[in-house]
Parts: sequence; structure tokens; C-alpha cells
Amino acid sequence: MIIDAHNHLGEVPALGWRQTPEELLAQMDANGVARAVVCPQTYPQSTVLAVNQEDNNYIGRLTQEHPSRFIGFGVSTPYSGSDKGAGEAERALTKLGLRGIKLHQRYHAYHLRPDMVGAILEVCGALGAPVLIHSGDVRSHPSLVGCLALAFPKVTVIMGHMGQNYYADAIDAARLAPNLILETSGAPAPDCVAAAVKAIGSERVVLGSDTPFYPLATGLRLIREAGLSAADEGNVLGHSLARILGLAG
Ligand SMILES: [Zn+2]
Repeated sequence: MIIDAHNHLGEVPALGWRQTPEELLAQMDANGVARAVVCPQTYPQSTVLAVNQEDNNYIGRLTQEHPSRFIGFGVSTPYSGSDKGAGEAERALTKLGLRGIKLHQRYHAYHLRPDMVGAILEVCGALGAPVLIHSGDVRSHPSLVGCLALAFPKVTVIMGHMGQNYYADAIDAARLAPNLILETSGAPAPDCVAAAVKAIGSERVVLGSDTPFYPLATGLRLIREAGLSAADEGNVLGHSLARILGLAG
């Protein structure tokens, strides 16, 4: 079963970002992808608690409408209430049926320090939910994601984009932090995926495409052209994430 660990649904007209559930399902069907992690769009206005809640509610509804296809992740930010987002993370995970929390420190303009995001990570750790964290620019350098993973060893931290051009640093961070998982969208080349699998094992590398910003087919090609063994490819394409999320199959 192929599972895509990173997608966004919803519309942000001011930024021209848009993906409907039907559009994602069509890409999944065309590429043989059984299930997809879906997050709200992450944009400056969603640091406002009411907007953040509305977006998480939307993902909750879609997950209920398509339970066999969509795995919902909510978004939380340190600005989501006086508790630095802990309450909204908890609501998303316990009331809306979402399975993880996405953090986007660049679009939401905060630093990846424990005093900023620790409350959210503690909720996720207590509920056994993974945190998907953007990476790939200076504010989102893999070493910052790695430090956070080391500071919260009980939380499964999925590094979105495996550092992009800083992929070597992402791999080094994952060598140090056993609770760090690398998600492949935005990796510069299939060789980067191969290097990650060689260094930390295919159990900790997961396919992501980051639709609508990249086509799903591009994400799949990065894995299929990495020259992995059949077992490793199967893990990266879906088995590893299924294990992390406790999904059947
Ligand atoms: Zn994303």
C-alpha cells in the first residue's frame, strides 16, 4: 500500500494556493496511492486561533468523509491561544480524529525552540501523535528540527522535505535522534533518498509529495529512481508510515 505523508488541502486565494479533495484523490488514483496524509494550508492568517480551528475542522470533516483515503493532520502554532497552541493541538487530536500535527515555523513566523513549540510537542507526545515539521531554509534548518527531536525523545518527529538542499544535515540529525523520520518531498534528487536509507534505514524514511506545490508523481519518482531494494522501496512508499501511524496494512 502506497501512502503519501505530506499533502495540503484547501484554498488561500491571496496566495493562489488551492487543492480540493477531489483533485488530490484524482492524483492518488492516477498514481496508485492508497492513502494520503492531508494537512490544512499553512499561511500567515492561520496563526489566528479562529482561522486555525476552522482549517482543522475542515480537515476533520474530510477525514470523516474519506476515512479509507485521507489521514488528517492538524496545524497548530504557538500563537493559537494563550497556551501556545497546546489546546488546539489536543482538540485536533482528540475531538476531530486527526492523527498528527503539522508545524510550519517559516510561514507562521516563529522559532523552533522548546519555549515556542514545546507545549504542542508535549501534547503530541502524551497522545502518541507524530509532529510533521517543515524544513529546508535557514529558519527551518534540519539541525533545529534535530535539536527539537533530541529534546522530546518520546515524540515522533517527521522532518518534512528532509532538509531540501540541506539533506546531508537532515541525515546527520536523524543519525543522532532515533525518533526523527525523514519525509522525502523536496529532496533534490533520488540519490538523497538513497543516502538517507543507507544511513538510517528505510524504516525511518517516508514518501511525501507536498501536493499541490509539487505533483504527486514527482514525489513517487524520487523514490522509484533511488535504486532501493524492493523491501526498502516498500518501506519508504508506505510500510514505514503505516507502522509509525499504527495503520493496518
Ligand atoms: Zn507542508
